[in-house]
Amino acid sequence: MSNLIVANFKMHGSHAFIEDWFTNFNQNKTSSHDVVVALPASYIAAFRNYGIVLSGQNVSAYESGAFTSQISAEMLKDSGADYCIIGHSEAREQLNESNESIREKFDQLKRMQINPIVCVGESLQVKETEKTKDHLRNQLSVLDSETEDLIVAYEPIWAIGTGLVPTEKEIDEAIGSIREIFKKPIKVLYGGSVKASNAQILLDNTDINGLLVGGASLNAQEFAKIAQLC
Ligand code: PEP
Repeated sequence: MSNLIVANFKMHGSHAFIEDWFTNFNQNKTSSHDVVVALPASYIAAFRNYGIVLSGQNVSAYESGAFTSQISAEMLKDSGADYCIIGHSEAREQLNESNESIREKFDQLKRMQINPIVCVGESLQVKETEKTKDHLRNQLSVLDSETEDLIVAYEPIWAIGTGLVPTEKEIDEAIGSIREIFKKPIKVLYGGSVKASNAQILLDNTDINGLLVGGASLNAQEFAKIAQLC
């Protein structure tokens, strides 16, 4: 299985910033991994022909209709997205997303042949009360255990944007409990304070199939370094 390295720009950037980033990244990468960039939805169409696979950061749970402010899976596909992040902890918290709505989003994406990247992860409180495994099982319980080609991103909330990274043992325990839910082989990415300086250690020493990179991905050269690690 080749590693998947995903950049999550969150709500950062501008047309000029992204153009510069793509030029810079293309000059610096000699990537042996599959690379995907999750742009703010408003920029996906403009960058569809830059030779980089694009992802949305969220999608509507509905097909179409009176859902002001939302973007459908069909619109994402039409704009040029091949992947879409769903269930990111920021969206779960800020937009009050439930596991059930994430399942609806998953189905909408699959219907449009967009690869969902399903984010899961525990808060510090859940970690400290040793309920991580139950929490992950609960978040993923809405997905069919027979799902093919599933991509899950394990992102402990306490590691996102904080500079804190779980130990390799903690990552492998969480990932083991995710894999055990599904009957088919799945891709599990790790996300949370990944940088060029820790990416290789994470890829080498844990049972992950790639990385989801937030803050550090905004620097094209730093992200190119991560994308070219083996
Ligand atoms: C994220 O938000 O998906 C993420 C992994 O962020 P960061 O790399 O900044 O911790």
